[in-house]
Amino acid sequence: MATTKKITNVGGDDKTPQRTTFVPTAEAKAQAGKFRMYGILLWVLAIVAEIGAMVILFKKDPEIALSTGARVALIVILLIDLVLLVAGSSFWKKANRFDPASKQNVLGFFFQNQLGVVVAVIAFLPVVILAFIKKEYLVGAIAALFMVGGGAASADYNAPSKEQYSQQTSRVEELTGGNHVFWTKSGTKYHIYNDCPSINSNRTDEIFEGTVAKARELKNITELCKICEKRAEREKGIDQSQSTETQPETTTPDGDKGTGNQ
Ligand SMILES: [Zn+2]
Repeated sequence: MATTKKITNVGGDDKTPQRTTFVPTAEAKAQAGKFRMYGILLWVLAIVAEIGAMVILFKKDPEIALSTGARVALIVILLIDLVLLVAGSSFWKKANRFDPASKQNVLGFFFQNQLGVVVAVIAFLPVVILAFIKKEYLVGAIAALFMVGGGAASADYNAPSKEQYSQQTSRVEELTGGNHVFWTKSGTKYHIYNDCPSINSNRTDEIFEGTVAKARELKNITELCKICEKRAEREKGIDQSQSTETQPETTTPDGDKGTGNQ
């Protein structure tokens, strides 16, 4: 849903910024491509590790227990599988911050953001099944645990979308006439003013600045600081009588607020 607020051009640009779709810069696209490649490579290696574990299990006689050594080797291989999976997913999620999917394609949006979960199932479910067939219950249980844990770590709980980027960028443009925000290393919000009390404190020794998209790309910061927002509204002199009829800007359609950013 687009903003229902009146957009007033405060100068700077020749036209009121009317962004419909977010388009990543060529640089961001390239970065995303690189991260996706790393992600896929690590996922492939995870599946190779899985195949290794399956080869060991395949040769096993269901009625004869594995030696402790073989069992330990299997668990180590599964652990490597898990590490590769999660590392791959982390690259994949990073890539999506640079080049987010569009929400208009529901299925595409889901798969692009949650592909790591699908890979987690591919990288563990076959070995879980085989382990149980071969009566190697401990290994099977560990593999199942890794699948769930790896899947949980691979999911994107704060999936970025083109629409969200556009919306957030236009909000900042609406308030300031430009696309320029500030954030800190450990902060979870981006700010319009670099002297905002919440970033201009003794705790902060470094402030980053850039576009809204950059704050998302680099830190996955999804929220505009409320103090800055109020101040910008005040400075811009938004007519209160006009803005009272619209909701004061707290609606995120997918309710992805409240989950702490890490
Ligand atoms: Zn602020």
